Amino acid sequence: MNKNYDNQNIFAKILRSEIPCHKILENDHALAFSDINPQSPIHILIIPKKAYLNFYDFMENASIKEMEFLWKLVNDVIKLNKISKKGFRIISNSGDDGNQDVPHFHVHVLGGKNLGRMMI
Ligand code: AMP
Repeated sequence: MNKNYDNQNIFAKILRSEIPCHKILENDHALAFSDINPQSPIHILIIPKKAYLNFYDFMENASIKEMEFLWKLVNDVIKLNKISKKGFRIISNSGDDGNQDVPHFHVHVLGGKNLGRMMI
């Protein structure tokens, strides 16, 4: 685990079932759940089950299998919500300049309306 990882962050608590989430899908290495403060009609977060700080930490330190399962779950969320044709946005905020609030790597999937040019 990255020495800067705070295991009291809210997504770590969700993964330990200490607080609830609205689960959408999961596989062996990743979990998808609804964002508590949705910015669009579809706003789902996908997180790895192991502790990674952000995209860079994940890509530097996760196994190929974890990467495969996380990005597969992102695509499964897109498929489940039938937004492949109309479109969607994938965002991963990282660090201070990225305005990352929760320090456990996560991917936002947003869709269900025209999202404008930028958001979050
Ligand atoms: P970020 O700024 O990329 O770190 O985004 C963190 C996201 O987590 C925000 O969109 C929040 O609305 C969302 N969030 C915070 N707490 C929870 C929670 N308990 N369940 C689901 N989503 C949450």
